Amino acid sequence: MVAARESSTANGTAQQVDVAVVGAGFSGLYLLHRLRKAGFTAVALEEADDVGGTWYWNRYPGARCDIQTIDYSYSFDPELEKAWTWSEKYATQPEILRYLGFVADRYDLRRDIRFKTKVTEARWDEASERWQLTTDNGPPVSCRHYIMATGCLSAPKPPEIDGVKDFKGEVYFTGRWPHDGVNLAGKRVAVIGTGSSAIQSIPLIAEQAVHLTVFQRTPNFALPAHNGPPPADRKELFESDRAAYREQARQSMAGVPYPQQTVVSWQLSDAERRERFERAWAAGDLVHILTQLWADQAVDVDGNRIVQDLIREKIRAAVEDPETAAALMPDDHPFGAKRPCLDTNYYATYNRPNVTLVNLRQEPIKAITASGITTARRNVDVDVIVFATGFDAMTGAIRAVHPITGRGGRSLTDVWAQGPQTYLGLTVEGFPNFFMITGPGSPSVLSNMAVSIEQHVDWVVDRLAALRDAGFTTIEPTATAQAGWNRHMADCSMVTLHRLANTWYTGANVPGKVQGLMPYTGGVGPYRSICDEVTSRGMLGFRLT
Ligand code: FAD
Repeated sequence: MVAARESSTANGTAQQVDVAVVGAGFSGLYLLHRLRKAGFTAVALEEADDVGGTWYWNRYPGARCDIQTIDYSYSFDPELEKAWTWSEKYATQPEILRYLGFVADRYDLRRDIRFKTKVTEARWDEASERWQLTTDNGPPVSCRHYIMATGCLSAPKPPEIDGVKDFKGEVYFTGRWPHDGVNLAGKRVAVIGTGSSAIQSIPLIAEQAVHLTVFQRTPNFALPAHNGPPPADRKELFESDRAAYREQARQSMAGVPYPQQTVVSWQLSDAERRERFERAWAAGDLVHILTQLWADQAVDVDGNRIVQDLIREKIRAAVEDPETAAALMPDDHPFGAKRPCLDTNYYATYNRPNVTLVNLRQEPIKAITASGITTARRNVDVDVIVFATGFDAMTGAIRAVHPITGRGGRSLTDVWAQGPQTYLGLTVEGFPNFFMITGPGSPSVLSNMAVSIEQHVDWVVDRLAALRDAGFTTIEPTATAQAGWNRHMADCSMVTLHRLANTWYTGANVPGKVQGLMPYTGGVGPYRSICDEVTSRGMLGFRLT
């Protein structure tokens, strides 16, 4: 690989590279590896002081993946796969972080990562046909190509409640949990939010706290993880033919090797449906229960309602207090229209005498005070507040680099004023040589992201290499192609139930965010085919210069 150079620019001495990558999580690490192998000079800029991304920041108690780790791994190097064995079906955050550190060491990636370095601005310079990146630490970067591997769930949503600053106790965010852990023993703790991070952490917090009060606005569907060692049948399938297993995942709808179901709910008797459901519930596999019950579960309200009712029955059976059980039952979105959560003892935790659920739909939070939280009906004094309030998903980290200025000085914020517009979720018209990994308009959060990330990275790096080898310096989608992709996105979403839910997929969790379904709902395999077809048809929809 050619070493990165430095040269003088108007901004001072800029680091000169072919490609700048922002982020050193799953995406940034693989990008760096592929870019080097393709002969590009590259640097990754990372705000944290080490690799890991999601798995660096999210250190709250109980943090784990919700896709089985056998699937939630890199597949690009068979030797890497042999060199690493997961200890659990759903690995913990420390184990996944160790894995990403292992990958960084194995491919010697750290030497091209500038840690503790945040990218603050990015400008396309038309004269030099290069991006100029401003950072908060060290020299600016001048690069031919600018790739944001900044993550879909990396910008925590700030609390929207008055008085947070007045609170005299301790405040934590699940997405920014202290590295040394937090001692909650003997403390009165409030958790605000009941999304995935809350559902994972609440059972463990309840074991430590003298009292835990959970403030819930919207209940989520949570499915049992039944964690333990990686399941033998799955392991066997994987070991018997790893390449075929991975290929099936790449062609699947969600990035996990399950077939497309063909039997619809009304072809099954009540007993047959229950039998399928109970089998899926016992398997403790998010993707199984999301895709394998019956073919109409994700596309038809009636087929979906049957699943919802069966899960509500489980909640009713698990939670002793009927009022608490009722409050925990989701009733405002179809099952799967919002990513369901995986739980270990979540519902049972509400049977503990030291746990209280506050239903914010009945008694909204009025304020946070010096001593705790005041709702419309009560004051709850606490020592600790944990915000598990989620992320400004998919666009938060991209928009946080401000401005990103493309051709003609247009800023991405202005271009996206009515919501994100992209071609393939990877590129934006007017922003040459700019790429996003798992950006809005790609399957991203609707998939096993390890599979989606590898597909994106491979596609982008292969295109950059082909571009260079053919003597081109810029690549940019046409306005027509972008409009066509957005139309296709809308068409796909009309045949799913996602359109019926206000979720973080649509930006509904962030006040003032423009609403619209951000991920591509057409599936991982079909999406891959489209990207491949774009290539095979002479970079259909792109302008190369
Ligand atoms: P990230 O891991 O988010 O990394 C992005 C990095 O970019 C971060 O380190 C951030 O610091 C850095 N960055 C952002 N902006 C800047 C900037 N301006 N300057 C410098 N650095 C910047 N997905 C699954 O498929 N399966 C799962 O089981 C699963 N579990 C999850 C559990 C949790 C708690 C969370 C939050 C997410 C989970 N996800 C899961 C989604 C997860 O985010 C992805 O799977 C994957 O880790 C994303 O990798 P990434 O590299 O694209 O982004």
